[in-house]
Parts: sequence; structure tokens; C-alpha cells
Amino acid sequence: MNVSGTGIGSGIAIGRVVRMPEPLPEPVDRPSALSPAAEKARAAEALAAVAAELRRRGEQAGGAAAEVLEAQAMFAEDPMLESDLDARVDAGKTAERAVHEAYAAYRAQLLALGGYMAERATDVDDVSQRVIAELLGQPAPGVPDPGHPFVLVARDLAPADTATLDLEQVLALVTIGGGPTSHTAILARDKAIVAIVAADGASVLRDGDEVIVDAENDLLVTDPTPEELEDAEARRAARAARLSAPLTPGALADGTPVPLLANLGSADAAVAALAAGAEGVGLFRTEFLFLDAATAPTVAEQQLEYGRLLQAFDGKKVVVRVLDAGADKPLAFLDDGHEDNPALGLRGIRALRAHEEILRDQLSALAAADAEANADLWVMAPMVATVEEAEYFSALAHELGIRVAGVMVEVPSAALLADRILRASDFASIGTNDLTQYTLAADRLLGTVAALQSPWNPAVLRLIAEVGAAGRASGKPVGICGEAAADPLLAVVLVGLGATTLSMSPAAIADVRASLLRFDSAQAAALAEAALSADGAAEAHAAARAYADGIR
Ligand code: PEP
Ligand code: MG
Repeated sequence: MNVSGTGIGSGIAIGRVVRMPEPLPEPVDRPSALSPAAEKARAAEALAAVAAELRRRGEQAGGAAAEVLEAQAMFAEDPMLESDLDARVDAGKTAERAVHEAYAAYRAQLLALGGYMAERATDVDDVSQRVIAELLGQPAPGVPDPGHPFVLVARDLAPADTATLDLEQVLALVTIGGGPTSHTAILARDKAIVAIVAADGASVLRDGDEVIVDAENDLLVTDPTPEELEDAEARRAARAARLSAPLTPGALADGTPVPLLANLGSADAAVAALAAGAEGVGLFRTEFLFLDAATAPTVAEQQLEYGRLLQAFDGKKVVVRVLDAGADKPLAFLDDGHEDNPALGLRGIRALRAHEEILRDQLSALAAADAEANADLWVMAPMVATVEEAEYFSALAHELGIRVAGVMVEVPSAALLADRILRASDFASIGTNDLTQYTLAADRLLGTVAALQSPWNPAVLRLIAEVGAAGRASGKPVGICGEAAADPLLAVVLVGLGATTLSMSPAAIADVRASLLRFDSAQAAALAEAALSADGAAEAHAAARAYADGIR
């Protein structure tokens, strides 16, 4: 019986299952023999020890893990949680039981919020388990070490475990829960771990079962036949060869250049991106720098951050997006209060316009950093929906010293009027994550509508084709910076639709480079046509695969 799930990246691995141990038993609800003050002191000590350990692991792992584990450490230091815990201890509970109950209540609140917040529930569970283990003087629950390479199967994995996985031992990761935006998925993508999440059917697997983890095809093959094993081994070896191929610039088989750029959230990730062969940055998500800030960052503070980025990419193209606040990326200082539908609210360029001083400061900081560096800085606005917004942004950016100013095409209205949007802008960059969400009216954070969120949907592809055609007609660049560009076959389709650059998580660059080299321009156009002509996402994907297999 094969199991389906959501593959992360396009890797494949073969190995034997080792399951993550079950969680610690629930602490018994019995009256404490100690005074409340003594129980509180025990709890405080354990919480501090866990926060320190999480930070230590974050620093050791670096990259995205450092940020994720810092956020998790804050779950161990949350003052609201602490007062809930104290109240439970005052009512006579042991520290272990009070920790268990307080975190369970917190977890329930996150789950009720749904989406991104609900996917943080695993992080909270993990902190609770670690604190209880600390109180009991037991080792923290964690990844098993059977002494040989294995496929790790877990209900979900805590960020602290994903971040510090021993990649010599863990051949692949399969989680029964989690979604494409869970921290497990984000970190697996970041570290290029072969992974499948939301694989419900994996709960029947037992230690020692042989499996093929085929992330590219969203499939876990259980009890594989010798033929399936042979095919998987050939694909694994071919991929390993691709990953160690020389870091040539992105291009089609006929030499048409398709620069491969990196999506980054901080300058710290620059070294790894360059090592993966990134030819520049196609999307720098500036809001990631300020997610925890209560007040707007100063010009000087921002100039420092942007300067670090531009210096790291000396002589290369760097596309920076101005703050994209709202919905999945809330920023306290650009938040105008509760909205029933934040994805349709005052977000992106709309929020910046409502706080123009923040936009002006950011553009000034970028221009100042640019003046001191030698990179090719382009700046773009998120969530542009009208030609007027594109004109507004271009005018302001140029006024404040930005040489190249463009827009992200993430809203269907901007794609449909791409010719006019491009008249007002120096370039366009398509954000396929939001473009898919808005085209299909399917919240990108909601697991229940995940099946609708495919950028392979021909409606999304037709909108991209509209932008590609406008780019060709005007001679202006059209990049892709959503996750779609990281899908090796879809990347070729996007080039066939008119994309001139592709930007993605650095871990995806090697696979995309190899895929582009299999097709010339005419074949990329034919591949795009095959996908565009299909009725749905699955059919478009199948049509593109069939065409690609035909020219192998
Ligand atoms: C997108 O929407 O595709 C995009 C690249 O931006 P983000 O994922 O940051 O919203
Ligand atoms: Mg977006």
C-alpha cells in the first residue's frame, strides 16, 4: 500500500523506517507535596534551562534554524503562560502537571486560530515535553539513534529536532501531521532534507519497514518491489550527480540564459545561497527582519541590514521587496487592528501607503545602502492590484533614489493588466504563492483547501502567460519568485510562458538548473502549451510530464 503526502523538494531516498518515540506520559494530577513557592521555583528553573538549550541548538545549527528556535525559546518565556502556570501551582498542582495543563491550554488556543498559528502547536508541545523532562530529570525526548542510516517517521517533528538532524544518518523524513508551511517543512526545505509531510497513512509503518520516500511525486512507497527499488536507486544516483554538478549559470539547452536567483529573508543566508550557485537575489523578504519589532525600524538600522546583503552579493543583481505586512506576515508597527479577512485587507503596498513615512524611510535606507555598495539593486512593491498603485510606487521609489523600481504580480488584477502595469514599472516579478491563493480563492495557510493551491492550475498559468507576453512586448524583465520556480518541471513551463529569471530557496537551485538544461526554447514553449491546454492542475502536471518523458 503506498501512502500519499506533500513532498518537500524533489529528492528521493530509500531506507528502513525508525519511528520517533512516543511522547512522555501525561503527568499525574495529584496534590503537590511542596509549597507553591518551591514548585514555582522548580518550574522557572526548568523553563529557563529549556529556553537556553533551544537557543544553543539554534546557534549551533545556524540559518533559518536559529530564527525558528529563537521563536520557540520564546514559548518557554511567555509571561502569559507563566502566569497561567503560577495560578495552577497556586491551586496545589505539581510543577509537572501545571506545565502540562498550561501548555495544553495554549496549544488549544493556537489550534482555534487555525492556519499558520495552528501549525505552531507542535512547537508548543515540544517545549512542554522538554520542560517536563527537565523537571523529571530525564533526557529530552528526541530523534532516535539506531546506529545506522534510517528514514525517520514521526507524528510531527519539533523545530529543535529538525534543525539538528544528523543528515549522515537521517536519509529522509516523513511526518504524519504537519503541512507545507509547518516548521518541519520550512526547515526540511532549507536544509534540503528529502521529506514528505501530511502523510496520514504513514502511521501504520513499523520500525524496520523498507520504504521509498519519493518527495518529487508526493509518494511514500511501502514494501517496494525489486523493480521499484531499482528505479528509485537510479533516480537517487542521478539526483546525487546533479547536485554535485558544476555551478554553471542557469540556461536552457540552447544557451538561452535563465538566471537562477535566491529567495532570502536575511543577509546571514547569503553564504549558503552563493555556495548553492545563486546568481543573485530575486526576492529579499525585508519583513522577515522585523517580524518581532514593536516599532518601525529606523533608517540607520535598515541601512545596516541592506548594506550587509548588498556587500555579500557584490556585483550581482539583488531584488529587494519593501515590507509585505499583513495576513501570513503580520508586523506590529504596520497593523491597523482586527480584520475579518486579512488576506484581503490593508496589506502589502496598501499598508505602506497608509503609513507612507515607513515606506519613505525604507526606500531611503535602500538608496543609501546602494550608494555605498556595488550590487545591482532593484526594489519592488508587494500586492500591487492596480496600475495606479504601480505608478505611485515607481514615482516614489525613483524620487527617493532607487534606480530600478518594479512590482510583484500576486493579485489576478495585476496579471490581467500586466501590459499597463509594466508601462508604469521597470520590471515585474510574479509571486506564485499569493497569485495561486487569489486566483483559486484558497487560503495558502489552510490545509483543508491545499488541493486547490497548485500553481499548475491552468488558470494560474494563463495569468502568468499574460504577464510573460507583456514582458516580451515591452522588453521588460519578468521574474518568478514564488515557490513554483522551485519545482524543476514547472520552472521550465514558467520559462516557456515568458519568465526571464527564476528565484527560489537556494536548496532548489541544483535541481532546477539540471531540469532547464534538458529543454531548448521551443521545447519549453511546447511544454508550457501542453500545461496551459489542460483542464486542471493534475492534468496540466501530467501533460507536462508526458511531454518531457517523450523527449528524453
Ligand atoms: C509569493 O506570494 O509568491 C511570494 C513570493 O511572496 P510571499 O511568499 O512572501 O508572500
Ligand atoms: Mg506574496
